[in-house]
Amino acid sequence: EVKRDPKIQVARLKLPILGEEQRIMELINENEFLIVAGETGSGKTTQIPQFLYEAGYAEHKMIAVTEPRRVATVAMAARVGYELGLTSKEVSYLMRFEGNVTKDTKIKFMTDGVLLKEIQSDFLLSKYSVVIIDEAHERSVYTDILLGLLSRIVPLRRKRGSPLRLIIMSATLRVEDFTENTRLFKDPPPVIKIDSRQFPVTTHFNKNTNSDYLKEAYKKTVKIHTRLPEGGILIFVTGQQEVHYLVKKLKAAFPYRKDVDYTKLITKNKPVSDADAALDSEPEDIESDDDEVEREMKRARKARRKAKQKSKTLPKINLDDYDMPEDDGQADLVDDEDSEGHLSDSDAEEDSLAPSIKSCRQPLWVLPLYSMLNQNKQARVFNPAPAGARLCVVSTDVAETSITIPSIRYVVDTGKKKMRVYDHTTGASAWRVVWTSQASAEQRSGRAGRVSSGHTYRLYSSAVFQHECPEQHPPDLCRRPVDDLVLTMKCMGIDKVVNFPFPTAPDRMQLRLAEKRLEALGILEKPPMKNIRKDDEEVLKVTPLGKAVSAFPLLPRYGKMLALSHQQNLLPFTIALVSALTVPEVMTGKPDSWPATGNVLLLGDPGVLLRAIGAAEYAYVKGEEEIFCAKYGLREKAIKEIRKLRKQLTSEINLSVAGVNVAVDPEMKPPNDNQARLLRQLVLSGLGDQVGKKIALDEVKQGEDKRKFKYAYHCGELEEPVHLHSDSILRKSIPEWVVFQELYETGAEERRKMVMRNVTAIEPEWLPLLVPQ
Ligand code: ADP
Ligand code: MG
Repeated sequence: EVKRDPKIQVARLKLPILGEEQRIMELINENEFLIVAGETGSGKTTQIPQFLYEAGYAEHKMIAVTEPRRVATVAMAARVGYELGLTSKEVSYLMRFEGNVTKDTKIKFMTDGVLLKEIQSDFLLSKYSVVIIDEAHERSVYTDILLGLLSRIVPLRRKRGSPLRLIIMSATLRVEDFTENTRLFKDPPPVIKIDSRQFPVTTHFNKNTNSDYLKEAYKKTVKIHTRLPEGGILIFVTGQQEVHYLVKKLKAAFPYRKDVDYTKLITKNKPVSDADAALDSEPEDIESDDDEVEREMKRARKARRKAKQKSKTLPKINLDDYDMPEDDGQADLVDDEDSEGHLSDSDAEEDSLAPSIKSCRQPLWVLPLYSMLNQNKQARVFNPAPAGARLCVVSTDVAETSITIPSIRYVVDTGKKKMRVYDHTTGASAWRVVWTSQASAEQRSGRAGRVSSGHTYRLYSSAVFQHECPEQHPPDLCRRPVDDLVLTMKCMGIDKVVNFPFPTAPDRMQLRLAEKRLEALGILEKPPMKNIRKDDEEVLKVTPLGKAVSAFPLLPRYGKMLALSHQQNLLPFTIALVSALTVPEVMTGKPDSWPATGNVLLLGDPGVLLRAIGAAEYAYVKGEEEIFCAKYGLREKAIKEIRKLRKQLTSEINLSVAGVNVAVDPEMKPPNDNQARLLRQLVLSGLGDQVGKKIALDEVKQGEDKRKFKYAYHCGELEEPVHLHSDSILRKSIPEWVVFQELYETGAEERRKMVMRNVTAIEPEWLPLLVPQ
């Protein structure tokens, strides 16, 4: 028997999902699978676990709810417990490094990764009567893998006579990926759609796209606050640092003081009607703002309005009216470190806002919101602002679908988010600021229409929206390099990766090739003959080496180099080497200026790279990087990128690999002869499936031009020869055996040839050591 606080009861009854309780419960009781698609804020996360609890689903086993984000895991457990009048002993949460689960836990909120771990030790999830996969539209790697596994676990539980229910909850995006995928669910599960009351939201685009989106966000917020009627403001930025920066600036502009009674100030110097209110009152096809152009815009608008009335069709977006975005796309690729630089303060343009800031006496109640914010501070966004002040939340994309803040009327959208971007050559990944998808932009806009009609200000042009923002970002699982995905899944005990029922499947051919590559590298192996059962003849298992490799946050081939170099105390060298191999075109000039001899010469192009970055770091410490790079033909941007990667990789490895604690030595000395020899063996260990053998000149067919074969090698099953790159240092020695990082094509038609990039000399007697026999 649940006893709810009457206040909570009133709030719940306002949620549209409450009216659907009976229908939802009937569907759950009658089906093993159910998809709940509902607008954000309709009450899926907070209410459905309560329905299940009241229907007795927690009497003998637990109710599991998974979240892709830590912030939602904690916040939602707390909220559901509070609404049910239960303690955190009964409604608990669990995530990596943190949790409050007890033996009395009835409803368990957890991150998707935690449930995956539990499956590894209890495949049937026998502790649970029902599993809710929340925020399935986020398509995190773990959520996708969970869905595939659960589609198989549920029927197994039925066979055991102890049924398990699976509820997939999602915003209304992309539900077809789950319903129309017959490999995942042979019979499409029923879908229940939850509507939520949504007021109209008017979208305004900026005319220009200023790459300094934080300044733009600040300006827009000041204008909204000083000119527009009451209503909360929600600002979307990309990360914690940006949140803090804006919070600080906005607080300074419109400070709140406890000892002042602000209630008398409300709506002074504010327009009365909503129509005047929007900074720009026309929908979709008009960009707002830039007061100077306002008058001109008005004329155009009038004309367009007339045309619209005539044609009666949907308003057309007139592309001639838009200026090209200012940034060239490069500016978008800022990451945390760079963005500190552009969090610049005062600025002439901003000064023009000073008079309106001064004359506005209403305070802004500015609150931060992001994943790692502590729970008490997070909870503040749900409370009303103090009397007389206006609520303003500066948030990352957690406010997009995970957390609904009441009373927002204005959304300020920078159009940016942070996304993990992988380098497909090495698998190194980094967080980058990218344009959000169009679907995300619409979700963000919707946040302004929860309590009344609202406005959303996109701080970029509609041309950017149309041409730069993808409709949807592909699911994480499909953006990850396949080799890395295959190894990760095998380590989880999922042996048949190629046949796995992915919600959105990566290319099967690619998965097969990845398995082959991993086998060649000794990371996967066929199980011993006596253990092979008929149906899993082709199942490859992870070797002990593979287990060690998987701990490194890189493509397995580079992970292998790192894992083995750790055993040889060469980790700092390999980290530098892998970082350097990740960045294209480090050297713009000929490498002859780099004296390479002996073993360093045999280390070949990677050896030259190592020397180059070592020397460049030395120059950097002395403050002479720029001159140095110019003098020796190094691309300065590449050197900076490598420096950042080294730091990032080093700290990630220290965090994720047990027992490793290495430091970045900026002035790394060149490897001595013995080290260089070991490094060559390490390079071979990672690139061992890419070996070349020199084609002897007497092998060249009659009639062929022998000169064309001076630097030609024979490579595996390839028919045509592959060549040493014209800048390769190994052209000096032309060794018998080499390994290379990648192959690429140059030249057109009869001049076309295959060229090896980043080549290292190896000894033939090392080859048998390559794959453990
Ligand atoms: P959905 O999962 O469908 O997006 P939720 O269940 O998260 O919706 O939210 C339903 C309602 O509950 C929203 O109006 C939200 O503002 C409110 N809500 C959620 N958490 C809290 C909280 N901690 N305090 C106050 N209101 C909350
Ligand atoms: Mg939710």
